[in-house]
Amino acid sequence: MTESIAVKSVALHRVRVPFVEPFRISNGVVAEKDAILIELTTKEGIIGWGEASPMSGSFYSAATPDTSWTVLREQLAPALFSAGEVHPATFFEFLREQQADQFAKAGVEGAFWDAYANAQRRALYELFGIERRPVPSGVAIGIFETIDALIERVRRYVSEGYQRVKIKIQPGWDVEPVAAVRARFPQLPLMVDANAAYTIDDSHVFRELDRFDLMMIEQPLAADAMEEAAELQIQLSTPLCADESAESLTTLDQLMKQRAARVINIKVQRVGGLSEALLMLKAACAAGLRCWVGTMPELGIASAQALHLAMHSAFSFPTDIEASSRWYADDIVEPAITIDQNGFITVPGGPGTGFKVNREKVERYTTAVERFSL
Ligand code: MG
Repeated sequence: MTESIAVKSVALHRVRVPFVEPFRISNGVVAEKDAILIELTTKEGIIGWGEASPMSGSFYSAATPDTSWTVLREQLAPALFSAGEVHPATFFEFLREQQADQFAKAGVEGAFWDAYANAQRRALYELFGIERRPVPSGVAIGIFETIDALIERVRRYVSEGYQRVKIKIQPGWDVEPVAAVRARFPQLPLMVDANAAYTIDDSHVFRELDRFDLMMIEQPLAADAMEEAAELQIQLSTPLCADESAESLTTLDQLMKQRAARVINIKVQRVGGLSEALLMLKAACAAGLRCWVGTMPELGIASAQALHLAMHSAFSFPTDIEASSRWYADDIVEPAITIDQNGFITVPGGPGTGFKVNREKVERYTTAVERFSL
């Protein structure tokens, strides 16, 4: 058994997989998943898959599929051959020194962990000392034209089993839709996500939302508006959740010092990989913050890896990782990710993530490939 990984070759696959319907949030619309799949082959011939999945159009982050593709092709993939023999548990230290965005790093680190787990013939969660458990899943619902359309959608997802509902809000689409959903679903675990669409001058909106017994309000203000977020939190009994603000251990530390959030949405992609996500979980829990696992959303490769992390018992809320069918008619992993009628996702047994990458589907949706080898 190998205790470390040395890279023999890397293939980058740029894929575009259609969404079952466009997703609209406060700052844009996306109609397909544009992602980069990283296929790493070790010197022993073991394959590991990772995925870099920033959202298209810089709605969410400065990194986009185009910028991550460029940095992976021109810098990060070629640099992997200089990493030498590394254990995936220390590989994040190498990644920290690389000039690349977090999404590109998360994809590469995911491929390392997957290759290592496959080489050891062990499940990913075991490598992190995590106990296997079904993962509670919640659904995120985009912005709709009408309240009736929103209500119909909430009804559908609740009947499918999702354990909580997250509604995207923006100025002009906030108190009214939330009041309508709350009136029809009085007991539903419910939260909202503003994707940084408001300023502190809008605090009256959040004081109104405070009446609806929401689990949390996610990213109401700009990512760097921490002082204002702290000011807003004091006015509310609903906890504020940091997403865009919590992009690294450093910004998490600032959030904690400023008391700008009580809940942290930990996204493997946004924070640069599984190891960084685990470090942030540990730091946030030590400071008394509650955490959960978010998603970009991603294709099956990154979703499956994040599900292994989400089995960690320190997470306090359902994950945003949803069934493959919520986003895709044709996800690229087998089996597809599914939720049961009680809203749990169970990861299949077997080494690695327990899911297999379907190469035929990867080829079907590939728009470009780049290969590197020693
Ligand atoms: Mg969010």
